[in-house]
Amino acid sequence: MLEVLRRIVQEVNAAENLEQALGIIVLRVKQAMVADVCSVYLTNFLHQQHVLMASDGLNPAAVGTVRLGIDEGLISIVSERAEPINLDNAPDHPHYRFIAETGEERYHAFLGVPIIHHRKVLGVLVVRQRARRKFDESEVTLLVTIAAQLAGAIAHAEASGGINGLQSERRSAARYIQGLPGALGIAVGTAVAIYPPTDLNAIPDRKVDDVEAEVTAFEQAVAKVYADIQALTARIVEVLPSEDTGLFNAYLQMLSGKSLVGKTVARIRAGSWAMGALRETINEHTRAFEAMGDAYLSERASDVRDLGLRLLSYLETDTRHPREYPEQTIIAGEEITASMLAEVPHGRLAGVVSVRGSSSSHVAILARTLGVPAVMGVSDLNVGRIDGREVILDGYQGRVHIEPPPAVRSEFMRLIREETALTAGLAELRDLPAETPDGYRMPLYANTGLLSDLSISQNTDIEGIGLYRTEFPFMIRERFPGEEEQRLIYRQVLEAFEPKPVVLRTLDVGGDKALPYFPITEDNPFLGWRGIRITLDHPEIFLVQLRAMLCASSGLTNLHLLLPMISTVAEVDDTLKLLKRAYRELINAGEAIVMPRVGVMIEVPSAVYQADVIAQRVDFLSVGTNDLTQYLLAVDRNNARVAELYDSLHPAVLRAIMQVVEGAHRYNKPVTVCGEMAGDPAAAILLLGMGIDSLSMSVVSLPRVKWVIRNFTHIQAQRLLEEVLQFEDANTIRCHLNKALEDAGLGSLIRT
Ligand code: PEP
Ligand code: MG
Repeated sequence: MLEVLRRIVQEVNAAENLEQALGIIVLRVKQAMVADVCSVYLTNFLHQQHVLMASDGLNPAAVGTVRLGIDEGLISIVSERAEPINLDNAPDHPHYRFIAETGEERYHAFLGVPIIHHRKVLGVLVVRQRARRKFDESEVTLLVTIAAQLAGAIAHAEASGGINGLQSERRSAARYIQGLPGALGIAVGTAVAIYPPTDLNAIPDRKVDDVEAEVTAFEQAVAKVYADIQALTARIVEVLPSEDTGLFNAYLQMLSGKSLVGKTVARIRAGSWAMGALRETINEHTRAFEAMGDAYLSERASDVRDLGLRLLSYLETDTRHPREYPEQTIIAGEEITASMLAEVPHGRLAGVVSVRGSSSSHVAILARTLGVPAVMGVSDLNVGRIDGREVILDGYQGRVHIEPPPAVRSEFMRLIREETALTAGLAELRDLPAETPDGYRMPLYANTGLLSDLSISQNTDIEGIGLYRTEFPFMIRERFPGEEEQRLIYRQVLEAFEPKPVVLRTLDVGGDKALPYFPITEDNPFLGWRGIRITLDHPEIFLVQLRAMLCASSGLTNLHLLLPMISTVAEVDDTLKLLKRAYRELINAGEAIVMPRVGVMIEVPSAVYQADVIAQRVDFLSVGTNDLTQYLLAVDRNNARVAELYDSLHPAVLRAIMQVVEGAHRYNKPVTVCGEMAGDPAAAILLLGMGIDSLSMSVVSLPRVKWVIRNFTHIQAQRLLEEVLQFEDANTIRCHLNKALEDAGLGSLIRT
């Protein structure tokens, strides 16, 4: 049965539109259940109706015309109760409503199960039989299983525009596909579906006689792809420094190395035609990467596939058509790679949509660097269906609107205008301090991790770097960067900001951030070998980094160190020992360095409860609300399915931060917040009220937060904090804060 189910889901996913998908469902489910009728009703929420959308067994003319009121018939009971109804004779039920045009008078037994996606009942799947009999338990559970499996596919078909006929009415209501915010902003543009030019796996095995001609054709393809990648690299260095183009160098290395090219040529020499040989080599490589079961390495597997498809497209030049990129291109794909972004002509990229990934994926980081909105993890999107259609990306909410109705479109256009006006208006705050009207100063720092961001040092709003994520330079390389290599990177950052403080965080890999050359396979990566746990276990790696940081600060005074993922006091003590050792060695070697100020990230609940103890050992604390929220609420920060539960305004998170402030201030140690929460203007008021000493955020968020700080007195912020602490959930708190922003005349901040 599992196999039957798998095949149905596969067929449904491949359907052209919703109508076809539902047609497949009713046909296949009827067969699988050995029923006389199978029908699907979908709920039209706008018109409050259940519509018969497909049927195998009922009168075909009834499909699309039969509509039941929202509380009419047995369908409404299944839908409302979100539970199956199993009846031996449907007409006996008091809620039964006979519909003559369906020709259902012949059927007695009725089994209806709800189709539920993300807690919402989308409709009802019904099977009928002529006989008077109750469906047995195994039949009921089978239909429930089928409906549960198909709900995603139905939502998918519906959301990606398979809606036609009656369902098109639903489109006039706000309709979007939910993903995760990847990079903030709103973009209106034309979707360009990025799909592999051809299907590698579809290449058949063939033998060739003229082996030499085949080898030559393959080598020519390699040379062409090599030239393409070189051209791409040249194009992307215009927007990214060479520091961030490691991926393309990796491509070039693969193309000149023995492994990929050599193995393919060997296969050709063994008699295979070039395309078949290439398919085998690429599959072998990707299987090896994927077998390592690691998120980052899977990305590398997709890079190898990308390269394979580029080669293939040259091998099949006759079927290759150049892709058109409209003025406002929104690229959409299952898995967008950095090279796909680079392919879009300069100035045309308006946004990025990716079915996979999250805000911490490479492509989201790159989109932020390029300043375009991105929506990630849009698992319900069928990419092929949005190609060439107008889409609106809401990078704030993580939503993709496909061909939105005029009202929705004009609302977004208004938001874009408001956003532009707001940004222009906020520019006027440039040289003014982040100070409340009653004289409370709140220094604002920037979060970064890309050297390409160093131009922000000219920005007078920024009082320094509050979080430099050093893992990025590690992630885009093929091996651990050496001490001198690291020193040069850190030096550039420190020099750019001197005398403003720069907080370099020690390597924070593990969890969702893996290194291609240091694979970690774990069942629970976020609860596993992460951050300081890795670096303390590998002093040879940690000491290189610490020394590089210290050396980089030679002659400067602005270096601060930050330790990620601290969950025990011993980790702090052990790190300080290593740091002192590195410091002494360098001083003995004659380096002109001073001991940096050291801070600990408070991002694990245990560290919250021991904030006072930790504070006594270091110079400052920095609250990482991204991880703190996920660990306190037990919600994976990258999982789209539970994203609704992830909210840093949850009362538990607020109370935890207050406890950190209290613990640190008892020992006169300052507390900063460097998670995304710091860049949320509404949350920033509460952090101000809590007595947080500084905030660190992405540069885009900074002017908005400054505006809030300049408009709320410290006393008002404290009062607001007291008020929201009376509430029991994040939503009520958010509403209360939004109202306070509206009342203060800062409503435009909420809308964007
Ligand atoms: C955090 O967890 O809040 C944080 C700033 O670190 P990262 O997002 O890099 O895990
Ligand atoms: Mg963190």
